Amino acid sequence: MREDPISMSSPDIEEEDIRAVLGVLPTGRLSIGPKLEEFERGVAEWVGTRHAVGVSSGTAALHLIVKALGLGPGDEVLVPSFTFAASVNAILYERATPVFVDIEPQTFNLDPEDLASKVGERTRAILAVDVFGHPADWDAILDLARRHGLAAIDDSCEALGAEYRGTRLGRFGAAAAFAFYPNKQITTGEGGMIVTDDADLARVARSLRNQGRSEMGAWLEHERLGYNYRMDEMSAALGASQFRRLPVHLERRDRVARMYGERLAQEDLVLAPAALPWVRPSWFVYVVTLAPGLDRDPIMREMERRGIPVRAYFSPIHLQPYIRREIALECVALPVTEDIARRTVALPFHNRLTEGEVDRVVRALREAIARSDGKR
Ligand SMILES: *Cc1c(COP(=O)(O)O)cnc(C)c1O
Repeated sequence: MREDPISMSSPDIEEEDIRAVLGVLPTGRLSIGPKLEEFERGVAEWVGTRHAVGVSSGTAALHLIVKALGLGPGDEVLVPSFTFAASVNAILYERATPVFVDIEPQTFNLDPEDLASKVGERTRAILAVDVFGHPADWDAILDLARRHGLAAIDDSCEALGAEYRGTRLGRFGAAAAFAFYPNKQITTGEGGMIVTDDADLARVARSLRNQGRSEMGAWLEHERLGYNYRMDEMSAALGASQFRRLPVHLERRDRVARMYGERLAQEDLVLAPAALPWVRPSWFVYVVTLAPGLDRDPIMREMERRGIPVRAYFSPIHLQPYIRREIALECVALPVTEDIARRTVALPFHNRLTEGEVDRVVRALREAIARSDGKR
C-alpha cells in the first residue's frame, strides 16, 4: 500500500478565508482600501506598536526599513549569515555593507559576543533575525545598540506571535518586519508588514511603498523615489482573516512541534530544537541538528527516497555565489554558522501534520541515520 505524500509545508486555509477574499472582488476596491487598514490595525494593536504598514512581501518590508533609516553606501550593518537571503539583500539594495556575525549553536541566533566584537567605526545598524521563530537575544542586542548608537532592525519574518521575556516580537528595535508567504504562520499569498512606534519611519515607509507619494498630496505628486510595494486588497482580506486565527495556528504548530519533540527525545544522534525558558517561540519550520560526524546529505537523500521531503535550512548567505562575487569576504570566519549549516535538516512542518505522519518522518529519519551511520 502506497502511503499518502507528506507536504514540507502547507498554508492553513479555511472556508472563512475564501469568503473573505471573494468578498473583495465585487467591491471594486482592489488596492489601497479598507481591508489593508483593517489588517494593519489588527497587527499593530496585537503587537502593541503605534503603526503597521502592509507591503507586498517581507523582503519589501525589510528594504523599506533599511531605506527609511537612511542606511546607505559606507554604512555597515551587522547581520547573521545563517538566515534567508532577504535579510542581507535588504542591506545590499541600499548599497550598505553587510558584516556577517556568527550564531549560537542552540538557538541559531546572533551570538552576542561575536556581535560586540564586530562593531567598528562604520557600523550603523544591527539587523537581527528571529531564526525559525525563536526570538533573538534582544536584551543583549538592544544593549549593544544603545551603547554604540546603532539602529536595531528586527527581521521577524519567521516569528510572528513569538515572545521574548513576555513581550511580543515586533516591539524590539526601531522597526520589525513580518512576512506572509504561504509557509509562514499566517499567509496573504505574498505579503509583509512593518511594525514600529516611529511615526516618521511609518510615514516614509507608507510613501515609499506607494511610488513616493505623500499621504496628503495629489495622486501624481511624488515626493521621493519610491516603489510599488503595495499590498492588494485580496491579499489584505486574506491576511486579516488569517490573522484572526493566529492563536489557533500557533497552537496547532505547538502541537506538531511537541509531537516531534517527544519522539526525537529518544534519538541519540538527533538534537531536537528547544526554546530557551524565557521565550515563547512561534514555530516556523522544524529544524533538527544531526550529531557531529554524521553525513547529512545522504541522510536527506534517503529520506526523500522514502517520500519524506526535507530541506537543508539554511545555506549560509556568506557562501552564496552572488555574495562571494560581489563582496570581499576573505577574513570572514563564521565557524558555528558553517558547522551548524552542515548539520541541520528541516523536517516537514505545518498546522495539519498528523501523529501518523510525524511517526513516519521520525522513523524515516532514524532509519536513514542508521543506514548512513553503519557505513562510516
Ligand atoms: C520569509 C523571510 C523573509 C521575507 O520573505 P518574503 O518571501 O519576501 O516575504 C525575510 N527574512 C526571513 C528570515 C524570512 O524567513
